[in-house]
Amino acid sequence: MKRHNFSAGPCILPKEVIQKASEAVIDFDNGLSLLEISHRSKPFVDVMEKARALALELLGLEGKGYKALFLQGGASTQFLMVALNMLEKRAGYLNTGTWSDKAIKEAKIYDDIYEVASSKDANYNYIPKGYDIPTDYDYFHCTSNNTIFGTQMKAFPDSPIPMVCDMSSDIFSRQLDFSKFDLIYAGAQKNMGPAGATLVVVKEDILGKVSRKIPSMMDYKVHISKSSMFNTPPVFSVYVSMLTLQWLKDLGGIAEIEKENDKKAQLIYSEIDLNPLFKGFATKADRSNMNATFTLANEDLKETFETMVEEAGINGLNGHRSVGGYRASMYNALSLESVGVLVDVMSELERKA
Ligand SMILES: *Cc1c(COP(=O)(O)O)cnc(C)c1O
Repeated sequence: MKRHNFSAGPCILPKEVIQKASEAVIDFDNGLSLLEISHRSKPFVDVMEKARALALELLGLEGKGYKALFLQGGASTQFLMVALNMLEKRAGYLNTGTWSDKAIKEAKIYDDIYEVASSKDANYNYIPKGYDIPTDYDYFHCTSNNTIFGTQMKAFPDSPIPMVCDMSSDIFSRQLDFSKFDLIYAGAQKNMGPAGATLVVVKEDILGKVSRKIPSMMDYKVHISKSSMFNTPPVFSVYVSMLTLQWLKDLGGIAEIEKENDKKAQLIYSEIDLNPLFKGFATKADRSNMNATFTLANEDLKETFETMVEEAGINGLNGHRSVGGYRASMYNALSLESVGVLVDVMSELERKA
């Protein structure tokens, strides 16, 4: 049966990437598996360099003073690493969901944090707008896409201070002026590869401004000086991320995938809006193109709907417990056809009910 993977993360990857990755597990370098080679061997050093270069190229940040790193510890480690490397006096955070909230909690270990604005009052179903960013703070932190609640920032402020963004669940999905950001981080497992690596793209000249001592593993400058090889990198995750970035480049880059992502989002949201059996969770203007959150208007249909979903080969549709209902995650590798299958099930339910 053909499966349609709507999982929020770890998520769907392109079939050809999984095929190539599986071949490298068997034979990557003259009979040696990718899983057993030295990370210092030339073939792997080339992989790391290519992955770092592709990330900057796809984001349009080559030659602009940025460095790309593949680190460990997930996006969650970046919550504290950003603060350790950049927080001297005070920082401003935009609180748009569970992940922003966790980032704030970690940064608070080092200093008081100012919440520039928050949508917690409405269970994060919208993105706050019209807030001011204090000019004398160290940095402003935001989350571009709120994976759990299904909201996405459609515009970013012209920040007077360095802007840091958690782009875990929408990096490489849409065109943005990435040079507006001074530091971007993203766990691989949402739109790039398997869990284990976190991409960090940082403008080098914002570093080195805090007075505290930073442990080596937490210091971006240390990782930059060692070309992202200060310690053993997550070899498999970096390799698969490199394959996905190459796949995206061959497709035509972010500009091309964005067109597909727009079509997928239009298809699902028009069904949510037209079908009286479903209700969208996020405010329309702030709806995410990556994670569509919705609930059933009538809970009595739950079993019928979920059986139909399963029979259609749809996987990973359950919503996060803080929203309930359903979440269709439509990352880069998910086809328009798969979204069509889900939409057909939703309209079939309307005919039946
Ligand atoms: C999943 C997610 C995280 C957490 O990532 P880990 O790699 O599990 O630490 C952080 N931020 C956002 C926006 C996410 O979607």
